[in-house]
Amino acid sequence: ARRTIGFIGLGHMGGPMAANLVRAGYPVTGFDVVPEALEAAQAAGVAVASSSAEAASGADVVITMLPAGKHVFAAYEGEGPGGGLLAAAKPGSLFLECSTIAVEDARTAHELALAAGHHSLDAPVSGGVMGAEAGTLTFMVGGTAEDFADAAEILEVMGKRIVHCGGAGAGQAAKVCNNMILGVSMIAVSEAFVLGEKLGLTHQALFDVAANASGQCWALTTNCPVPGPVPASPANRDYQPGFAGALMAKDLGLAVEALNATGTAASLGRAAEEIYRHFALDGGAGTDFSGIINTIRQASEG
Ligand code: NAD
Repeated sequence: ARRTIGFIGLGHMGGPMAANLVRAGYPVTGFDVVPEALEAAQAAGVAVASSSAEAASGADVVITMLPAGKHVFAAYEGEGPGGGLLAAAKPGSLFLECSTIAVEDARTAHELALAAGHHSLDAPVSGGVMGAEAGTLTFMVGGTAEDFADAAEILEVMGKRIVHCGGAGAGQAAKVCNNMILGVSMIAVSEAFVLGEKLGLTHQALFDVAANASGQCWALTTNCPVPGPVPASPANRDYQPGFAGALMAKDLGLAVEALNATGTAASLGRAAEEIYRHFALDGGAGTDFSGIINTIRQASEG
């Protein structure tokens, strides 16, 4: 028989992920503190609970997909309808924590779950809402090999690439490092296009050279910040996301937290955090993060 799943946090990502588990034949009971999210999940076949504790109490596997670390702790051990997961779940349950949170918070969440007698993996994702809907997310997983093997079948319903990155927190570590590369490289590509404009270079000429030379990277060849060279990139649809500026700002904030906690000298990661924090505050939160090129262009107008 398929294992029973409690799914906590049925927002942009959790809603479609839970729906895919239902489609694959898993009994899923869900909870969200926002009634609209709960109703949408119900329409997709998720059984609705009146609290997190109720959703977890009958489950073999508890999945959380929440905004940030504080919500994870509130769900694990807080009071009220959104809390109390660790105490309510059967001892020996498997906790899959899929939210993007700080590495330190992920390690603390592991410790809390283990202390309550459960198994635990951090399993943040990339791939966005489209990946969640299509079941093509990438999962970056931290925890023991045994727990990873135990979770694989369920993660494969929601994702296409499932990578065991190491012990507790390693999934979040991989995610924060990857997204720091992404933030820095998108700024670098955008600065190069604006410099090219100033030097009289066409976008296509710079693209044709850099895409086949040592400047090649995802920010250039897939999410190209100027319209034209890559027809599917957000720049061609007025920077509709895609990957929203608010999420890039959030992930770079987690990167700086990790840089500080580890004493890592990474000046570009810190600069990228500052640039995207302001981008999100100044109207870029809901647009694709490649819209940073417009900020750079505006700042370059004498
Ligand atoms: P969201 O805000 O749409 O969904 C989070 C849901 O959690 C909300 O519906 C909220 O009501 C619910 N919630 C909060 N506290 C709760 C509690 N105690 N009990 C039950 N429900 C609670 O966010 P999202 O876009 O689905 O993102 C979820 C996580 O995934 C975030 O950490 C985000 O950084 C990460 N992520 C998002 C994307 C993306 O493209 N949206 C991509 C990769 C990773």
